[in-house]
Amino acid sequence: MTLEPNSSQQAVRLLPVAVSSNKDLESPVLHAEVNCINQFFKLPEPARPSVDDALFISTHEPCSMCLSALAWANVKTVYFTFTHQDTRDKLGMNEDIDIIEELFLDRGDREAAGSETDGPRYNRRNKFFTAAPISSLFDAVADETLKDGLKDRMNQLQKAMLSASSTLQTTGKD
Ligand SMILES: [Zn+2]
Repeated sequence: MTLEPNSSQQAVRLLPVAVSSNKDLESPVLHAEVNCINQFFKLPEPARPSVDDALFISTHEPCSMCLSALAWANVKTVYFTFTHQDTRDKLGMNEDIDIIEELFLDRGDREAAGSETDGPRYNRRNKFFTAAPISSLFDAVADETLKDGLKDRMNQLQKAMLSASSTLQTTGKD
């Protein structure tokens, strides 16, 4: 989980400003996103860039609680590696979709659409922020070699995360 400086320039070096992880054994609401936001705002002013100039990068598409936290924190850009659907289908974690559908979606509309819909269940582009899979950044890369390299690294990262998740679930650790 990182909150990094952003820029509209073509080439920019991103530096981690705040990095955090899930602490749900301490409390079920201490998700990595919430912890990262708290860590970011605890930084003294000189070390803390404007939140307007930061990118928020998350391993998983944030849950409904964390999406709201990001809006409250005035984060403008959110990228993630696993969509809600990936989190459910590849990692076997259904809570994100389950909570959004139960709390926020009209039951009749949800049943009409079918629970297996692949689309996002919230507005990824909204007045507070824009959220997108980090792979969408690769489409903007003109250099095909660089683009392929980035895609390969993302695939390796996802495989490592899937492996780690599988190990955690097998050993019962969370
Ligand atoms: Zn969350």
